[in-house]
Amino acid sequence: MYTPSTIHSTVLYDATALETENSLLRLILTSSSDPILITNADAKIIFVNPAWEVLTGYTFEEVKGENPRILQSGKTPQQYYKQLWHSLAKGEPFTSEAVIDRRKDGSEYHIHSTIYPVQKDERTMYYVQIQHDITKRKYLEELRKEFLSAAAHELKTPLTVLKLLAQGQVARTQKNGGTAQSKMTEFEFIDQEVDRLSRMVNDILDSSRFETGKLSLQFERITVDNLIKRVKEKIHIYANSHVVIFDEVSQEIAVTADPDRIEQVLINLVSNAVRYSESGTTITVGVISDSKSASFFVKDEGIGITKAAQKHIFDRYYQVKNVQKRSRVGFGLGLYISKEIIKRHKGKIWVESKVGKGSTFYFKLPLGT
Ligand code: ADP
Repeated sequence: MYTPSTIHSTVLYDATALETENSLLRLILTSSSDPILITNADAKIIFVNPAWEVLTGYTFEEVKGENPRILQSGKTPQQYYKQLWHSLAKGEPFTSEAVIDRRKDGSEYHIHSTIYPVQKDERTMYYVQIQHDITKRKYLEELRKEFLSAAAHELKTPLTVLKLLAQGQVARTQKNGGTAQSKMTEFEFIDQEVDRLSRMVNDILDSSRFETGKLSLQFERITVDNLIKRVKEKIHIYANSHVVIFDEVSQEIAVTADPDRIEQVLINLVSNAVRYSESGTTITVGVISDSKSASFFVKDEGIGITKAAQKHIFDRYYQVKNVQKRSRVGFGLGLYISKEIIKRHKGKIWVESKVGKGSTFYFKLPLGT
């Protein structure tokens, strides 16, 4: 039971605790190495910490009462503001790495930003923004993208020349009629290796095009039968060591797709099936359809993929460890690119697999109208 004295001491204790709490909070905010900015409900700045002052070049006195808009560089995508206000309106925090702001001296910086609405009785009283300077990381990412794209472009020209030379030699040796059978195989080998290198270079180019949103697709209405036929014609280059079976496919079913890109996905899946299974085993290619979609599949009897690896195989640069070196000729980009292509078709790609038994890769496309 409360007596007047216990009430008095509780109140006294709370007041001291509050004061201690306040100074503790102030200490945390000011000593944080991450920049922090707080506004009131009207988006007027009421607090910035020293780390924020160092990052932006402004002092608190200069920005007090201002709207954080003064920091905008104009380069943050409009989408960011839309998503931000959508979250804040619901009273939820919002995190993004899309913000590019401008310092007092005019230079720009990138931040990882989380804005928390602080609410009382369901009304937002303050907005607390915790930032993290990611300018250096963004710069390095940009450098990596530019380097990869430029290097891949530069490699394309010598590869084209090599390809022409190799093909020329293959043709010449063939014309001279069986005189140098071993030479012929060497030139064919060079030709094949140049093709492999070209595929890897194209993978790097495609991957950087996806990253920068620069990959454009040419959609057209095409039957699944025609898509499969295109692959059938080219498959011998990739799979003369295996038995490749093409299931019967209906000529009626059509999808709206970029035929070159779907062919690329199918060839990628077949060449993976070849690389990750013993020669002489069977690879089956087919399509299952219903009233809404067509699901293409490539089935192999190869090494299979563990449940844990299945979660990551569509990630960029992911390669399963401990897989025999000879089959690992790519950069772990093939399935990533396939996933991006299928995504752009509003489709879905997935795998069903058992270690030691084999894998079936599926991708589903909506039927064309
Ligand atoms: P890469 O083959 O160039 O390494 P991918 O993106 O095509 O890259 O494949 C990612 C990983 O998935 C491969 O490293 C391989 O371990 C695994 N994988 C892909 N296809 C198969 C398959 N049919 N059977 C077994 N493992 C596969």
